[in-house]
Amino acid sequence: MSSLPSITIIGGGLAGCEAAWQAAERGVAVTLHEMKPHRYSPAHESQNLAELVCSNSFRGESLENAVGLLKVELRQLGSLFMTAADATRVPAGGAVAVDRELFSRRITELIQGHPLITLQRDEVTEIPGGIVVIASGPLTSDLLVERLKPLVGDDLYFYDAIAPIVGADSIDFDTVFRASRYGKGEGADYLNCPMNREEYERFVAELLTGEKVAPRDFEKAVHFEGCMPVEVLASRGIETLRFGPMKPVGLTDPRSGREPHAVVQLRQENREATMYNLVGFQTKLTYPDQRRIFRMIPGLEQAEFVRLGSLHRNTFINAPRLLTPTQQFKADPRLFCAGQLTGVEGYVESAASGFLAGVNASLLARGENPVVPPPTTALGALMVHITTADVKQFQPMNVNYGLFPPLPGRAKKKERRGLLAQRAQEDLLLWRAELQGGTAGQVGAEV
Ligand SMILES: Cc1cc2nc3c(=O)[nH]c(=O)nc-3n(C[C@H](O)[C@H](O)[C@H](O)COP(=O)(O)OP(=O)(O)OC[C@H]3O[C@@H](n4cnc5c(N)ncnc54)[C@H](O)[C@@H]3O)c2cc1C
Repeated sequence: MSSLPSITIIGGGLAGCEAAWQAAERGVAVTLHEMKPHRYSPAHESQNLAELVCSNSFRGESLENAVGLLKVELRQLGSLFMTAADATRVPAGGAVAVDRELFSRRITELIQGHPLITLQRDEVTEIPGGIVVIASGPLTSDLLVERLKPLVGDDLYFYDAIAPIVGADSIDFDTVFRASRYGKGEGADYLNCPMNREEYERFVAELLTGEKVAPRDFEKAVHFEGCMPVEVLASRGIETLRFGPMKPVGLTDPRSGREPHAVVQLRQENREATMYNLVGFQTKLTYPDQRRIFRMIPGLEQAEFVRLGSLHRNTFINAPRLLTPTQQFKADPRLFCAGQLTGVEGYVESAASGFLAGVNASLLARGENPVVPPPTTALGALMVHITTADVKQFQPMNVNYGLFPPLPGRAKKKERRGLLAQRAQEDLLLWRAELQGGTAGQVGAEV
């Protein structure tokens, strides 16, 4: 094994195990470091690798949802995560859910049984030499965080404050109006959802009574000054939101010719203008109550949420500033980053990120060029987004169809997702053939 090309991976979670498997399957010797059972993060409990710290669901299976497509792609690409998921499934309607104990045990056995993977149970406190994949997750140990600081500077965050995002095609453009405050800025940058007094007061009342997600024990001490949950602002007094994120001053509704009583502002989220976020609406409301309450906002009655809001402990870097779409650090290309630490959000997305980092670290170890999947695929759309998004407002992201490049022609809203999935499948299969034939580096270069 000593004559083989080799890499080191930090973290035996979803991304680290997937990366290790992909690299080893490509003939590269892998040393995988996992700090459990010597040290546990506040959320991990089991000795097994690839532990699911919360839900046992990998979300929907239908191609109507981009996470369904991402799972199909991972299966087609020979992902360890999907192999273990399919082998340990439990009934869950339209979702893929697993027996969490069997799932993690299965991955642990496969990793331990692979002749090219050496599992070392220790905490990494220095970034090793050679080619390294850092996949230590949203609860990376403190000592390693210290070692990351010289590499990432101020572009390292410990909490995310996520505001919901809605699909542009689900916004009622007859109700919202485009305007920037006092007409300032580059044109009319915001979409404004106007509210009258009655609508505003009803909305605030619902925010106060809506069901909230309880913080975990290790999150309780945190103060979110500067990124307060919208319902906490609402609890400070009926007018607080009107002087905060729902401030109407300087905004004239062209239909009434007057300033509304309050507004919710929507800011464009991506270059293609297929998604808009609700400015300042980070929240700890439960997902069902977010859907119910935010659809009370005029113009958002039919909103489709491509991401819902949240606030939780989450170590992640500013990937668009620090990483290339191959998942390498711009400042030190021998280092790769994978999983939730890169700013992808979710189990499936973390494994997908591990897949790409593992493939690319092994290519580099073998003296070949790292690759980027086509951006028309779910894997490519996610990786390209997190490494090219706006550096100033970067927040973790789930995979969703809003990230995909638009279709060339016009398509009815109902048919669009099917067509995006079909295009993704065609491009994925071509890319997979090139990857297997060793020519995918050229595809990557074009992306
Ligand atoms: C509390 C919480 C709940 C979540 N719930 C969900 C959910 O329900 N659904 C969902 O889709 N996503 C959820 N997520 C988000 C995310 O999908 C998971 O955290 C996912 O496990 C991330 O995968 P990962 O491989 O990046 O990190 P992890 O799976 O956390 O793996 C990282 C591994 O690195 C190890 N490690 C850390 N530091 C070191 C070190 N210095 N040396 C060696 N090893 C180290 C850790 O022990 C861990 O095993 C949750 C996140 C958190 C924090």
